[in-house]
Amino acid sequence: MTPVLVINSGSSSFKYQLIDMSTERTLASGLVERIGAESGVARHTVYATASASSASGEVAGTPTFLDATRTRELPIPDHTAGFAVMLEAFASDGPSLADTPPIAVGHRVVHGGARFFEPTLITPLVEINIDELSVLAPLHNPANLAGIVAAREAFPDVPHVAVFDTAFHQTLEPAAYTYAIDAEVAASHRIRRYGFHGTSHKFVSEAAAAFVGRPLGELKQIVFHLGNGASVTAIDGGRSIDTSMGFTPLEGLVMGTRSGDIDPAVLFQLARRAGMSIDDLDDLLNKRSGLLGLAGSNDLRDIRAGIEAGDPRALLAFQVYVHRLRGYAGAYLAQLGGADVISFTAGVGENAPHVRAGALETLGFAGVEIDPERNESPQRGIRVISTDASTVTVLVVPTDEELEIARQTLSVAAT
Ligand code: ADP
Repeated sequence: MTPVLVINSGSSSFKYQLIDMSTERTLASGLVERIGAESGVARHTVYATASASSASGEVAGTPTFLDATRTRELPIPDHTAGFAVMLEAFASDGPSLADTPPIAVGHRVVHGGARFFEPTLITPLVEINIDELSVLAPLHNPANLAGIVAAREAFPDVPHVAVFDTAFHQTLEPAAYTYAIDAEVAASHRIRRYGFHGTSHKFVSEAAAAFVGRPLGELKQIVFHLGNGASVTAIDGGRSIDTSMGFTPLEGLVMGTRSGDIDPAVLFQLARRAGMSIDDLDDLLNKRSGLLGLAGSNDLRDIRAGIEAGDPRALLAFQVYVHRLRGYAGAYLAQLGGADVISFTAGVGENAPHVRAGALETLGFAGVEIDPERNESPQRGIRVISTDASTVTVLVVPTDEELEIARQTLSVAAT
């Protein structure tokens, strides 16, 4: 057994997953949320892969939870208390961390700036750097750091590793990451494109290469990560060369609640004519736009139901969403000079055949041909959805960011 604990910490919640890296199977996962509220919630799931003896815990009379979830409500004042609750859940419901303690803890960190381009062993200096990068990610990095500090208290004797969402995109050339604004202003405020979802783009591009049985270094790939947040990356030989998210995750594709690309002058107009403040505009573009702003729901399933019910707003939202996907598909085919593999991943990418079909519909001229039956198949797991005649292989690849974080954590912890 080689257990690695993965932590994804937000400001008032954190998710965790314990993965046995000798088999890459998840032993347990959980969510601690509403930290700091009157009553918090802790959910812990033990998977059937955990052995019955370790899952029975040490408390006499505790039932054995196999492939079972238990939810508790209790006050959780801060992240440190949240980790204590998580440790209690492991002790009572298993698997026992006393028997098989994690050999390392991996932490998702949203922003690594231009400083972190690989998974990094966390030291007090690295913590200071993550904190300093909060200037660029004020919502995310402080929350990630709160999780790191509490986890280091809970697991003081094992290596902790930071895995950055931005790291995979540190291979972007200046031509791809530079905004065409006053260079001195940009430099003094570190304004450039960073890109996000890197852990997922890396995982999916590697899984796709393994699946088609060709070396990663030989492949030109486009990966569409379409979840609530969405981004697309052009990957040449395993290196990110262009990506749709930029200085923040707001740029690029139409998302659940974010606008994606927009003429910045719209903001000047709304500030001058509608009297909207910077905070109003931030809220508008990040939380009240995208599918939600266009059609009243950020969930593509609702958009689909709306189209079927004849709602013109739902139809327009879908058309805008797919139009943007197509634009990026074409742009990245051009940046790469063609593609060998195009993959779809995350909630929408894995589950919405009509989105996949719409995104690639016009790319027949580039040798992209989706097989409607394969595309509509309810089959799970990594699969081909292009025809045998298609010169570009189109795949659906379920993403697994936690497993990727655990792999990268192990690669650092093992050295
Ligand atoms: P996050 O970005 O929050 O991690 P996910 O990758 O889980 O999100 O994606 C969530 C989104 O996936 C939902 O908001 C919804 O739009 C979409 N989604 C999930 N299941 C389906 C489905 N069966 N059909 C269409 N869209 C789906």
